[in-house]
Amino acid sequence: MSTYTVINPATEQPVSQITLTDAGQTDAAIERAVKAQELWRNVAPGDRARLLRRFAAEVDAHIDDLAELEIAGSGHPAGQARWEAGHVRDVLEYYSAAPERMSGKQIPVPGGLDVTFAEPLGVVGLIVPWNFPMPILSWGMAPALAAGCAVVAKPAAMTPLTAIRIGELALEAGLPTGVFQVLPGKGSVVGQRLVDHPAVRKIVFTGSTEVGQQIMAGCARHIKRVTLELGGKSANIVFADADIERAAATAPYAVFDNAGQDCCARSRILVQASVLEQFMELLEPAVKGVKVGDPKADSTEMGPLISAAHRAHVASYVPEDAPVAFRGSAPDGPGYWYPPTVLAPVGADAPAYTEEIFGPVVTVTPFADEAEAIAMANDTPYGLSGSIWTGNVGRAIRVARGVETGNLSVNSHSSVRYWTPFGGFKQSGLGRELGPDAVDAFTEVKNVFIASE
Ligand code: NDP
Repeated sequence: MSTYTVINPATEQPVSQITLTDAGQTDAAIERAVKAQELWRNVAPGDRARLLRRFAAEVDAHIDDLAELEIAGSGHPAGQARWEAGHVRDVLEYYSAAPERMSGKQIPVPGGLDVTFAEPLGVVGLIVPWNFPMPILSWGMAPALAAGCAVVAKPAAMTPLTAIRIGELALEAGLPTGVFQVLPGKGSVVGQRLVDHPAVRKIVFTGSTEVGQQIMAGCARHIKRVTLELGGKSANIVFADADIERAAATAPYAVFDNAGQDCCARSRILVQASVLEQFMELLEPAVKGVKVGDPKADSTEMGPLISAAHRAHVASYVPEDAPVAFRGSAPDGPGYWYPPTVLAPVGADAPAYTEEIFGPVVTVTPFADEAEAIAMANDTPYGLSGSIWTGNVGRAIRVARGVETGNLSVNSHSSVRYWTPFGGFKQSGLGRELGPDAVDAFTEVKNVFIASE
C-alpha cells in the first residue's frame, strides 16, 4: 500500500499522510459508480435537485474547515481559500436548478411524433490539477451530477485534502453511495485507469497541455467524450485611452493571483508605447504592495508556490542576467516563496514571454497600435484568457473579436465566472465548462420517433 505525505508549502512541514488508490481499487470504484448511476439517473429530477442543494448546504456549513485544509495543504491565502469553498457551494447551487430543466424537443415529422431526450452519459472521470483543487473539482462535479451522471474524481496527488472532504460531505448530504467518489492517487495509475476503463464514458481533464494530449489520445481508443482545460499564456492589453491607473493597480491581481499558478494568469502585459512609462511608474508600487506571506493571515494576498520543484521551475525563467524591472517581496525561511517579479524589456523569443510559467512572473512589452496588439496577443499556441483596457467601446469590441481566446474581460481583471462558459481556443483546450449549457456536455441526445399511423 503506497502513501503520499501532503506538505504545507508555507512551512515545509507534513500535514497528512494519504493512502494512494491503486489500479484494482480504481476499477472497483468505477464498478460501484456504474451501479450507482443506474439508480441516480432514475431519481426524480426534483429530488436530485434537492440533494444537490443539500450538498451545497453541507459545503456552506463547512467553509471554514475546507478553507483550513486548503491553507495547510496548498498554501492558499485564507481569504482566497474561503472564497474557493464558497465557490463550490455556489456552483452546486447553480447546477441544482438544472435537473428540472433538462427538457428535450418535440420535432414535427410526418406519420407520428418525434421527441428527444437528454440522457446522462453514465460514469464521468474527473481529473483535477493541484492549483485550484476545490473550484476545478466543482466545475465538472456539479453539472455531471445534475445531468444524472456518477462521478469518479481524481484530485492531484499533491493536493487531495479538500476533495476528500467534499466527497465525505456529499455522503453526509444524502447523495447515494457511489454517485460521487474521490480517489486520491497518481495520474499514471488512477487517472490512466479512468481513461482506459470502458465503463467511464467521459473524461473531464484540467491540467497541462502535454498530459491533455495523452488523455485525448487515450480517449480516442474508446471514442470517449473528453473536455480538456489546459495551459495558457494570456495577454493583458492596455491601450493609451484606458484608465491607466486602474489598469496598473489591478494588473498584479490578474497574474499573481494564486501566486501565478493560474491557467488564466495574464502573464504578458502589452502596453501601448505612448503610455508605457506612465504605466510602469504606476505598476511598480502596485506590485510592491502585494501582500505576500503567511497564508493563515486574513490580510495575505499571495502565498507560496506549491513545491520546491515548482519554485525551481519558476526561478529558471528569471536567470541572473534577467531584465528584472522591479519585484515585490517574499518571506525568508521555510516555505516555497517566490516574490512577484516584473520583467522588462524582454525579447519576443524569451522563454518568459512565450512559455507558461505558472508562477508570479510577468513580462511587460510595448505595442504601437491596435493591429499590433492583436497580433502579439495571438502569437502563442494558447488561447485561454485575456483582458483589454480601453475607453473606446468600438475598440473593445474589435480587439475582443480579434483575440483568439476563450475568456476575455474588458476593463476588468476578472477571469472565471460560473454563470458563463469557460474554456480555451487552440492548445488551451477543448469544450466548455460552466455557464448555463454545461450540463449538455454530460448528456447525449436520444431521438425517438413514435408512429401515429
Ligand atoms: P498535470 O497535467 O501534470 O496534472 C493534472 C492532473 O492530471 C493531475 O491530477 C495529474 O495527476 C493527472 N495526470 C498526470 N498524468 C496523467 C496521466 N498519464 N493520465 C491521467 N492523468 C494524469 O498538470 P499540473 O497538475 O501540473 O497542473 C498545471 C497545469 O494545469 C498548467 O499547465 C495549467 O495551465 C493547467 N490548468 C488549466 C486550467 C484550465 O482550466 N484550462 C486550470 C488550471 C490549470 P498527478 O497528481 O499524479 O500528477
